[in-house]
Order: sequence, then C-alpha cells, then structure tokens
Amino acid sequence: MPLPANARVDIERFWATIERSAEIGPGRPGGLSRLAVSDSDKEIRDEFVGWCRQAGLSIRVDGIGNIFARRAGTDDSLPPVVMGSHLDTQINGGRFDGIAGVLAGLEVCRTLDALGHRTRRPLEVVNWTNEEGARFSPPMVGSGCFTGAYTLDWAQGRRDDDGKSIGEELARIGYLGEMEASPHEFDAYFEFHIEQGPILDRDGMQVGVVTGGFPSTGMLVEFRGETAHTGPWPMERRKNALLAGARFLVAVDDLGWDHAGSGGKATAARLVAWPNKPGILSDWAQAVGDVRHPDPETSEVMAERMRRAVGEAAARTDCTAEVLDVWKWGGRIFAQELIDQVRMTSLALGYRTQDILSQAGHDAYFVARHAPTTMIFAPCKGGITHNNAELCTREDLEPGLNVLLQTVLARADR
Ligand SMILES: [Zn+2]
Repeated sequence: MPLPANARVDIERFWATIERSAEIGPGRPGGLSRLAVSDSDKEIRDEFVGWCRQAGLSIRVDGIGNIFARRAGTDDSLPPVVMGSHLDTQINGGRFDGIAGVLAGLEVCRTLDALGHRTRRPLEVVNWTNEEGARFSPPMVGSGCFTGAYTLDWAQGRRDDDGKSIGEELARIGYLGEMEASPHEFDAYFEFHIEQGPILDRDGMQVGVVTGGFPSTGMLVEFRGETAHTGPWPMERRKNALLAGARFLVAVDDLGWDHAGSGGKATAARLVAWPNKPGILSDWAQAVGDVRHPDPETSEVMAERMRRAVGEAAARTDCTAEVLDVWKWGGRIFAQELIDQVRMTSLALGYRTQDILSQAGHDAYFVARHAPTTMIFAPCKGGITHNNAELCTREDLEPGLNVLLQTVLARADR
C-alpha cells in the first residue's frame, strides 16, 4: 500500500479527546490531579481502552498495569512500532503532560483508519503506569519494570503515603494484568510530549527534535536521630533528623545555584519527618534531591557533591544517614537513526524545527534501553508545567502530531 504522504491528523478529533480526558480527575482550576492507580486513573484508563476498542485495537495489560493497545499490521509477525506516554498526572498537574503522548498514538491509529491504511508492521499505543511518581516512588515505575530496571515484585510492592501498594491498587481498579513482565520486542518507540520548558515557545519553534536528556541523578536519603524535648535538651546533644534532611536539601539547592550559569539544575524535592511536631525533635526524616546538567561530566560532579552533602548533613546534626535509593537517567540515549528521521520529517513538512535536550525524566529513557527510541517535543506556553496553568493550543500540538504520524508511517511501512 502506498505511503499516504499527505496524511494529516484530525486536530479537532484529537482536541475533543484531550478535552474529555481533562474532565477526569480535576485538580485546581484548569488542571488535573489524576494520581496513578487512583479512582480517576481507573476512569481515564476505562475511557482510553474504550476509545482503543472503538478503533479496533486489541488490549493487553501487564503485571504493573501498563496498557498496550495494538493495531495489527499486514505482516503481524513483525515487532510493533510503539507510541505512548502516561495518563497519570502530578498532584497539581496539567491536561497535556504525558496525556498528549498517549492520545497522539490513538490519533495516529484513528487517522490511518480514516485513510483505510494498514501499516506493514503492527502499531501499539502504550500507557505507562505511574510515570509521575507523585503517588508511588520512584517515577516511571511502569516503563522501568517493563524494561527490566525493576523486578515485578519490587515494583508492585511500592507503597503510597497511606501504605497502599501499587499491586493492591491495580487489582482494586481492575488493571493488574496477567501479561508477563518480560518485555516483548519493539521495532521502535516514539514518545510525543510537551517540552515542559520555555525554549520552543520562546524561540517560536513548532517541533523539538529531542537528541537526548540532561544526565541526571536523584537520591532518596534517610536520616535517623533521637527524639527529645525542644526546650531543656542541650543544643550539643540534639540529634534532629528533620534538620539533617533540611541541611541536605539546602546543600542540594546550593549545587543548582553553583552550576546555574552553565545550565545546571538541582531540586530539593521532598522532606518528611517523624513526629514532625512542635515540642519534640524528630528522630526520622526522608529527603529526596536531584541534580541535572547538560554536560555529563559536570552532572557527575554535581552528583558526587550531592552524595557528600548526605554525610555532611548527618555529621553536622549528629544523626546517621543512609542512601536508600539512587536513580540516574538521561544522556545521549536515543537512536540517531530515529532522531534524524524525526528532524527530516519535520523539515519536510515545513515546520520550524530545533534540536533540544529533554530536561525532565520520561518513560522513553527506560524504553531506550530496550528498543530504538526517540521523542518529539511540542511547545507549551511559557514552559509552565506540573502546574494547573499548563497550556497548549491546537496550533502548539498539531505540527508534532503530524511529525509523529509521518515518522511512524515511514517506520512501520518500511
Ligand atoms: Zn510527562
């Protein structure tokens, strides 16, 4: 079947689907609070599965709740070309982060249906579980489990702040699938995503060709001290774990400022402590920090200084510290062949196009370990994201959707 080079997505149909999604799990005005494996996650999953079935896609769910919707190819024995992202959001999330990438895959399938075109290779649209890490730590647990970075048991056992595990919650909402955890082969993986930064919008660009990600390191640290009365207890005998966590996080933030001139970022992301009450010193705290920099060596220097900050914070407060988890992501991990193809397609379609590094973590980072992978970025207003004011227009999204469509077609029909 000839390649329909004039094929374009139906932006109004895509937009209507985005708007329906935006009704599910409302958060602050205009935004979403659709935490992974919650009741509202079930609702959007049901809706998504319904849309996929209407489009003739077959559905499989794996043991960590990742949903794969498959459109058969004319040679269905070949590995699929896969598109996707995540339908969960941050606690104060927007309507586009992740969601646009899953619904983009659906829109590609709908467009091909409308054209009566069946690709040689099968297509799949995937929704990865718990990308955000807003409810269960770590983030990207679905794609990480699928690609073997985490075992299924470990991933299912991650617990939210109320002690509920992903596995229990998936079973409760009906998305604990039986499909084996070991991954099936992908021909390629394309993730369409909003940039989540200000560069494309500022530069008036329509499509970001993502060449890799900021090399990044995140760390979960536990501090232990001793409870005591906040009044009489002598300063020199205090072991305040809350303070250890706070000192660590201030040090992480300082790292960001030290390297900000060359594009570095550091985040004091989370601090919890017990009992965390007035009148008593805390004997336990957990802190999460991360560092990222476009230059791999500098990123490693920042990560090493973050590690040292753990010991310094503990020593200064007479607490003990244990690094419970370290996660690394980013780098030049995407497939050059796919990057070039996205760039060529975007330029051929006449879009203002620019190479860009991703500064956020994405499921594509894990999938890149498993299959040739790349990402396509669309601009979002002012780069605002993880915020209910996150905003894209049809005009922001349509070029990237068409690049996805044409790139996937070329790949799947070869
Ligand atoms: Zn995302």
